[in-house]
Amino acid sequence: MPEPTLTELESGIVQVTMPLPWALDHVHCYALAAADGWTLVDAGLGSRRTLAWWEEALKALGRPAVTRLVLTHYHPDHLGASAGLARLTGAREIVQGRLDRALSVAGWEEADDAGFERYLRDHGMPADLAAASTRAEIGTAVELAVPTRLVDEGDLVEAGGHRWRVLHLPGHADGHIALHDEDGRRLLGGDVLLDEITPNVGRWPDTEPDPLGRYLTTLRRLAGLAPAVVYPGHGPVIRAAADRAAEIAGHHDERLDVAAGALAAGAESAFETAQLIWKDEPLGFHEQRFALVEAISHLERLAAMGRAVEHRPARWRPAGEEARPQRAPLS
Ligand SMILES: [Zn+2]
Repeated sequence: MPEPTLTELESGIVQVTMPLPWALDHVHCYALAAADGWTLVDAGLGSRRTLAWWEEALKALGRPAVTRLVLTHYHPDHLGASAGLARLTGAREIVQGRLDRALSVAGWEEADDAGFERYLRDHGMPADLAAASTRAEIGTAVELAVPTRLVDEGDLVEAGGHRWRVLHLPGHADGHIALHDEDGRRLLGGDVLLDEITPNVGRWPDTEPDPLGRYLTTLRRLAGLAPAVVYPGHGPVIRAAADRAAEIAGHHDERLDVAAGALAAGAESAFETAQLIWKDEPLGFHEQRFALVEAISHLERLAAMGRAVEHRPARWRPAGEEARPQRAPLS
């Protein structure tokens, strides 16, 4: 039976790890203690089980008065349970990034499922897989808390007896925010920097073009900021943030070369590109969707660098290459 895990990382900061029913099998939320009310960062997936786990976790923490909930970004494993957690705790203040709130409403409350399926197909995903992939997304459990405070880059948020600076760090999500404690050089980072896995940088239908360009800027900013410790949304705590940021940037440089190689080998759509990028690691059902949107990000970055051309919508070729003869699609 999966259950939540509580880990006190330092005095007053508890990592609350919730199981996830995915290949990525957990998400870290955080509880910051303060005499005048605790702050929770992120909520977990919006299932009844998550809320039952929160009840357990809060009991283990001594049933603290929770006054504030902060949401890092709109992905379902982070804000899915936000409405339920707000009800459960009675938190007065719900803090969310201004852009992230707009994207949450567009992505979850005004979801265009037919448009999403068409988007996957347009980028080369076979119709039956696109339909199944869209159905799987519809099943995701999300109930949005209504924020009481929308924050922007540079704003200050009180949490755990400290003032944290809001940083807008796009790439993994356009509206992603993190909380930076400048004195303690600590970062509550959400998914901007992860150890062991690289954050997915997907060009979803509601993402602005070239998210990888923005993510590489975020990585440079993190390398410069060099927090002494990053408390992440998944995986181990990061204590060499600048090195990890450089490593992830290097990973994307390699992937850009592989994507360029896929175009040179005849891939034309993002789906075909993803099949070549991941040819040695067969992708599971959900991973196909993430691989596709990440391939779009790499192709758009190559185009921004002048290394690829989108010669018609969602069809790509290496820059400098003239129109190709018609050919059968790669299978
Ligand atoms: Zn996440």
